[in-house]
Amino acid sequence: MAEADVEVTVIDRQDAPGGHWLHAYPFLRLHSPSAYYGVNSLPLGENRIDESGDNAGYYERATGEEVFDYFGEVASRLDRTGRVRILTAHEHLGGGPGGERVHDLRSGKVHEISPRRKVVDARYLESSVPATHTRPFGVESGANVVPVNDLPDAAGDATSYVVLGAGKTSADACCWLLNNGIDPDRIRWVRPREMWFDDRTYFQPLDQVANAMGGIAIDTEAAAHATDLGNLFDRLEESGRLARIDPSTPATMYRGTMLSAGELEALRQIENVVRLGRVMKVEANRLVLEQGEIPTGPDVLHVDCTALGISNAPAKPIFDPGRITLQAVRHNSPTFNCALLGFVEARRDDDAEKNRLCPPNPYASSIDDWPRMMSRTWQTEQAWLSEPDLFGWATESRLNLIGAMPEHIAEGTTQAAVQKYLTHVGQAIENLNELPRTSSSEASSQTL
Ligand SMILES: Cc1cc2nc3c(=O)[nH]c(=O)nc-3n(C[C@H](O)[C@H](O)[C@H](O)COP(=O)(O)OP(=O)(O)OC[C@H]3O[C@@H](n4cnc5c(N)ncnc54)[C@H](O)[C@@H]3O)c2cc1C
Repeated sequence: MAEADVEVTVIDRQDAPGGHWLHAYPFLRLHSPSAYYGVNSLPLGENRIDESGDNAGYYERATGEEVFDYFGEVASRLDRTGRVRILTAHEHLGGGPGGERVHDLRSGKVHEISPRRKVVDARYLESSVPATHTRPFGVESGANVVPVNDLPDAAGDATSYVVLGAGKTSADACCWLLNNGIDPDRIRWVRPREMWFDDRTYFQPLDQVANAMGGIAIDTEAAAHATDLGNLFDRLEESGRLARIDPSTPATMYRGTMLSAGELEALRQIENVVRLGRVMKVEANRLVLEQGEIPTGPDVLHVDCTALGISNAPAKPIFDPGRITLQAVRHNSPTFNCALLGFVEARRDDDAEKNRLCPPNPYASSIDDWPRMMSRTWQTEQAWLSEPDLFGWATESRLNLIGAMPEHIAEGTTQAAVQKYLTHVGQAIENLNELPRTSSSEASSQTL
C-alpha cells in the first residue's frame, strides 16, 4: 500500500482480522520485543524497557490480546484508505473459471473475484495452535486433557500436571504453573525432543542493538570454525548464544524461539521429564507414548501444547506469474519478511529478479536446518548490499531487528560486533554449506 498504487482485497475465513492471535492462550506474549513486530507503518507498544519479571531489562513484549487489538487497528486503518477491502468470514476455495472462488460463510454464497495483478497466498505457512488444531493423539473418556488456553481455569482442580510438548508453548505453560505457585514436583513434562532456545539478550533492538549484532557475530564466528554440526552447537552453547533446559541431554530441536535467563532457571526446576517419544493416547489412568507408558489418574491435568506453531513447510518459489506465496527470507523474522516481499513486489518487475533477491528460507525444525537457514540469510543479505533502494528500506524498517545500527555504529561494542561479523561471515557461509552432520537427521516434525 505504501509503495505502490494498488487496491487489495483481504480474505480470511475468521470473523475478525488477527489470524492465530484470535486463539491466543491467556498468558501468551510475543516472544520477541513489540518494537520490531507487526506492520511497517504502525508501531506496537512504546519501546519501554520492562523493569521487573522474567523480561526485566529487555524491551516490552505485547500480550496476545494487545497483538489482536493491534491487528484490528491495522485493519481499520487500511479500510479507511478506501483502497483495501477486508472480507472476514470468507473462505478462499481456489481458482475457478471466472476467477478466485470465495465462499461467504455468512450468506453461504460463492463469489468469483478476478485479481487484476496477483493472488497473495498468506496461508502457506499458516500457524497451528492448540486451541484449533487436531490433536495428534487419542483421548479416551475419563482422561483429563485441556488445550493450553484452558489451563488457568482448569488448574485449580488438579493434583498434578502433565505438560505435553517440548516447544515454546509448553515452556510458557510450565512457567505459568511455576509463577502461580505450583511446586515443580507436581509438574511432569513430556518432551519427545530436547529444544535449543535462543537467549533473549541477543534479540534486543534500538538502544540494545549492540547485543543483537553481537549475537549475529557469535553465529558467524561459530559457523566459520565449527568442525561438524555437534561442534557448532557446542560453540553456540559455550558462548551463551543458545541454551537447553537440560545440558546433560542431547538437544535436536531448533525452532527459533527464545527464553530469558530467568525463565531458563525456573524451567530447570522441573526434573520430572518424560522422554519416551510422542504421546499416542491419554487414558483416564495412563499416558501411552511411542516408547512406553506412565501411570496417571483422573485428577492429573494434561495440558496440550503439541501444536506445531508456525509452519516449516518446504521452500517453493515466492514470486510466480499471478501469484506470491509468502515465506521466510531472513531467518526468524516473520513480519519483516512479509513487508520485505511487499516492497520487492512493488519495486521490481521481473519475477526471476524478485526471486533472486528473496530466496525462500524455511523455518527450522531441527538442528540440521540451522546451517542452511543461517547461510541462506547471510548470502541473501549480501545480495541486498548492491540494491540501494532495498537496502535503504530494510535499514529504515521498524521491523528490522538491527535497524538501529547506523545510530549506534560509533559505540565500541557495536563496532567490535560488526568487525567480528565481517571477519567471519565469508568463511561461515562456505563452512556451513559443507559442514558434516554428526546428528541423526530427523524427518521434519509435524508436532512438538
Ligand atoms: C503462539 C505464537 C507466537 C508467536 N510469536 C511471535 C513473536 O513473538 N514474534 C514473531 O515475530 N512471530 C511470532 N509468531 C509467528 C506468527 O505466526 C506471525 O508473527 C504472524 O502472526 C503470523 O501471521 P499470518 O497471517 O502469517 O498467519 P496466521 O496468523 O496463521 O493466519 C493465517 C490466516 O489465514 C486464514 N486462512 C487459512 N486458509 C484460508 C482460506 N482458505 N480462506 C480464507 N482464510 C484462510 C486463517 O483463518 C488465518 O486467519 C508466533 C506464532 C505463534 C503461533
